[in-house]
Amino acid sequence: LSEKLQRAFKNLRGQGSITEENIQEALREIRIALLEADVNLNVAKDLIEHIREKAVGQQVMTALSPTEQVVKIIRDELVALLGKDTARFQFASKPPTVILMAGLQGSGKTTTSGKLAAWLQKGGHRPMLVSVDVYRPAAREQLKVVAASIKAKIYEGDTKGEAAGTPLVERLAKEARREAVISGCDTLIVDTAGRLHIDSDLMDEMAKLKSLLAPQEILFVADAMTGQDAVRSAEEFHKRLALTGVVLTKMDGDARGGAALSIRHVTGQPVKFIGTGERPDAFEPFHPDRIVSRILGMGDIMTLIEKAEETLDRKKSEEFAKKALSGDGFSLEDFRDQLRQIRKLGSLQSIMKMLPSVGPFAGMQQMADQVDEKQFTRVEAIINSMTQKERNNHEIISGSRRKRIATGSGTSVQEVNQLLRQYAQMRKMFKGVGKGGLLQRRAMGML
Ligand code: GDP
Ligand code: MG
Repeated sequence: LSEKLQRAFKNLRGQGSITEENIQEALREIRIALLEADVNLNVAKDLIEHIREKAVGQQVMTALSPTEQVVKIIRDELVALLGKDTARFQFASKPPTVILMAGLQGSGKTTTSGKLAAWLQKGGHRPMLVSVDVYRPAAREQLKVVAASIKAKIYEGDTKGEAAGTPLVERLAKEARREAVISGCDTLIVDTAGRLHIDSDLMDEMAKLKSLLAPQEILFVADAMTGQDAVRSAEEFHKRLALTGVVLTKMDGDARGGAALSIRHVTGQPVKFIGTGERPDAFEPFHPDRIVSRILGMGDIMTLIEKAEETLDRKKSEEFAKKALSGDGFSLEDFRDQLRQIRKLGSLQSIMKMLPSVGPFAGMQQMADQVDEKQFTRVEAIINSMTQKERNNHEIISGSRRKRIATGSGTSVQEVNQLLRQYAQMRKMFKGVGKGGLLQRRAMGML
């Protein structure tokens, strides 16, 4: 995606605002990316419309390039769709909390039951496992092995001489819950049978388990690799059982995770966890923002945007740029404001990486390279020690004022002199840029 998208975005560069025309191609690429990531067609359409509405007419932010800005809009939309926060796990007010695992065969229910138990144990809980997959003895044996490997309690029950069927399933479930109470377990994880395809017998059995156990959580376990199939079955399960959440397994494969978006869209239920491998600890709470990066395949850009948006105040930098480039130039007061803002970003090196290295900034970068963080603090202290009048008109700062400022800020007169010299230089440089029309516009877009 990235490469194509970059090309599409090239057209956006150098434009004052995002228009219907210049975003068209970018949106087409995004749509393809979403579909490739297994996002349902209708979901993708909805999203694109939202993004178009949001993006068109937006001023190009000074802190971000148009590319980054559009990506940011997309990211925000996707995160909003997935739910901003990591979903909560529901616990019963009176233990045991019952968790019913649902899903097709091979989706990862048994493995996930074990992972969930391990996760609960880590959180100080005492889970008990039970398998009611009575149709496949090997499946129950599998859960036993998993339980042993994480030292979790399991209720095995006696199944000898009883025919596999819903009555046995119900008996095991009831016994397991009683056993959980007796042995002081606060959670009961019920691993169920799956089918290769949804059938009504299975659904009936699941519905019976639901009314018998009144589970706090009914988690739909979906194999991320199966894409649209997972979406369809999620919808069916949700209709019949009213799911409370989704676990997306096999996210360690090359699935892009678009299924997460679609499942969320069709069920309205959040993805609560993801499975990232076969081992019991390959499991983590779901973070919408990470999946979004994965879907878009743009990890690095995301990080940059987050950083920039956290710290850079668009309006302020715009104002500063305007002032700096105007005939009046920027005052020491403006300079201090700008310094403060820049410092919020972190180290100078990281800021420099975000600034373009051409035009008037080339010089600034070099200048800033020689300044270390401590010097930054000193510069601010010096400006702080000036009076408002001095900050607004540096020309009145005479020798005796310099002395006072140096004493007040705990620096030397030389340092005050140096700062004033640098300031005057920068001011002149900016004003020079301001005179050239084209250059000015470019500088404004870049600052
Ligand atoms: P069930 O039929 O729904 O109980 O599915 P299982 O728990 O038996 O899992 C089916 C297969 O998927 C097994 O080989 C698991 O090891 C594998 N599996 C489950 N979760 C994950 C995962 O998150 N990542 C990977 N790579 N494999 C998984
Ligand atoms: Mg199983």
